[in-house]
Amino acid sequence: MNLADSEEMAAHLQLRGYTKTENLDDADLVLVNTCTVRDHAEHRALSFLGRLRQWKREKCGRKIIFAGCAAQRLGNKLKKTFPQLDLVSGAKEIDGFAELLDASGFFPPETAAHAANTKETGVTGYVTIMRGCDFACSYCIVPSVRGPVQCLPSKDILAKAAQKANQGYPEIMLLGQTVNAWKELDKTFADLLNDVSALPHVQRVRFVSPHPAFITPQFLACVENNAKIARHIHLPVQSGSSKVLRDMKRGYTRETLLEKLDALKARGFAVSTDLIVGFPTETEEDFEDTLSLVQQAGFSAAYCFKYSPRAGTPAAQMPLLPEKTLEKRLNILLNKVKGLAEAAYGAQAGKKKEVLMETPNKGRTSDNFWAETKKSYTIGTIVCSEVDQAKGTLLLMRD
Ligand code: SAH
Ligand code: SF4
Repeated sequence: MNLADSEEMAAHLQLRGYTKTENLDDADLVLVNTCTVRDHAEHRALSFLGRLRQWKREKCGRKIIFAGCAAQRLGNKLKKTFPQLDLVSGAKEIDGFAELLDASGFFPPETAAHAANTKETGVTGYVTIMRGCDFACSYCIVPSVRGPVQCLPSKDILAKAAQKANQGYPEIMLLGQTVNAWKELDKTFADLLNDVSALPHVQRVRFVSPHPAFITPQFLACVENNAKIARHIHLPVQSGSSKVLRDMKRGYTRETLLEKLDALKARGFAVSTDLIVGFPTETEEDFEDTLSLVQQAGFSAAYCFKYSPRAGTPAAQMPLLPEKTLEKRLNILLNKVKGLAEAAYGAQAGKKKEVLMETPNKGRTSDNFWAETKKSYTIGTIVCSEVDQAKGTLLLMRD
């Protein structure tokens, strides 16, 4: 989501004559887009901002914009601690970013003359379809920094997806905090997926992050016969213990989760996930439940996080587990996940796959395995080939 938001903000800056650079010394402006989901993420953004003080001093006229969720949480008081900051733009202000730039008086107005080429590299076009979150997971700061759910109109989503496909992105990724909560009157998320996949030039559709609550038999029935919908789902489960899931206020149990994971697997979806270790009420036994869920589910990949208390969330009131316990559990889980990922790659040998090329000889399969081809192909094309063997977390294809 931050990538998509960064692209959106960058497009407004490009319309004002800015071009992108990877090199800080060449830059006249730095836009820092931030995350505040965990303390560590926020801390990194702030320490980068601290280092930009010297950068700004080195050349007259340099500007700094601090945007995103940490900007939303900390607000304009940031300017007191970081006087080098020119503009703060919170995550909720993304739709009004252009107006904010105008109001600041620091930036030239937008001109169509600069609209020439704003296509990013890569094969995936990101399309935000909803913002905010109506859940209230007890550890999570997102609802307070991003606000309640706002679904974008299907008309706008389809227009944006069509534009991305015409610009040369064969893969469309639909984005939202609980992306599959999207709805519009009697139109469901599954209907939207089918509509996006039917647009000219769209080869593949992905989405992130779905919430287990909306993975229903109806949803699966609507998408299972549409091969353009990628056979991979990133479904954050957080824990394998029903007690911890209850304390996290996730709204599902281990048992209902396993039913959904089985239904996904039965339809050929590879599943990856997010997991949190060391939630305040997590005992050794609860942690074992997470390990056994991970094993049973056979996740193809997992992002594992140490629990991070976020001010203002209900869980932040609870006493923390010792840091050593978090470290230990994280390491055990990371090892387990690595083994499972390699096993998932290993199990693909001999299977036929469609690889969407991201470089001349590397790309992703529909079920989201990273694959290397023998021959070189045009970036953005889909290559059908058989998996020869897996090398760690890379599939080696026959052609
Ligand atoms: N909306 C998505 C996740 C958004 S946050 C969902 O509900 O699935 C992305 C991930 O950050 C979460 O899946 C969770 O694993 C992690 N996360 C969120 N808050 C956290 C916290 N306080 N400590 C550690 N990890 C956290
Ligand atoms: Fe946070 Fe839960 Fe909403 Fe995901 S569903 S953004 S974890 S509150």
